[in-house]
Amino acid sequence: MIKIEADLHTHTVSSGHAYSTVDELARSAGRKGLKLIAITDHGPNIPGGPHEYHFGNLAVIPDRISGVDILKGIEANILDNGRLDLPEERLKALDFVAAGLHEHTGHNLSSREEYTGAIIRAMENPLVKMITHPVNVNYPVDIEKIVRAARANDVILEINASSYSPVKKSQRGIKALDTKLCQLAKRYKVPLSLNSDAHYHAEVGQIETLEEIIKKANLRERDVINVSRERLLSYLYPDRYRKKQIV
Ligand SMILES: [Zn+2]
Ligand SMILES: [Zn+2]
Repeated sequence: MIKIEADLHTHTVSSGHAYSTVDELARSAGRKGLKLIAITDHGPNIPGGPHEYHFGNLAVIPDRISGVDILKGIEANILDNGRLDLPEERLKALDFVAAGLHEHTGHNLSSREEYTGAIIRAMENPLVKMITHPVNVNYPVDIEKIVRAARANDVILEINASSYSPVKKSQRGIKALDTKLCQLAKRYKVPLSLNSDAHYHAEVGQIETLEEIIKKANLRERDVINVSRERLLSYLYPDRYRKKQIV
């Protein structure tokens, strides 16, 4: 089983349907030996989600809590034409911008072509660093086109552990398609990330549900960007990281 040092996808109470605080997520991550988490609350269009002001004040959160680096980010909602639900200037101020398709967020996308096109347009936004759960039973896409666009735009593709959570009523993931995504990502040299998508602190860093996909796709550590804090930071912030070696 691949071990991750960084979890790039976690939600706090601010998302409206998640149940832990930043401190609880960080402490849980520390106990599990993680070195970094990204706080990626949903964008403002999610029902019950944070106002855009939430993202303007993230700087008050320390850069490190309980020995765990904190990236202040967002899981923005992809809307029509790949537009995101947070203004550009607020996105620019964040450490990490992930984006994904979600229900009830105001988009009018309704076909495989439209879902694929919107995700690709979102990836063309240079601020977007990762696409969350590109494999999603509710949003069928052309996986090969997504992987090629990720290569062209240097975007991380996520394999989402919560999509296979046994406690959820229905599963969003499709194992055969996530396996195919991994194989294509290896072929096109697209960085993958294995993330929890935690909505409760105990879930941080939990990626066990991905074991079968990892095995079938023959994923190695070199294929996964978040196995190493160092590798991840030098990928996300090549200039800053080289200069200061801290972040
Ligand atoms: Zn999501
Ligand atoms: Zn999420």
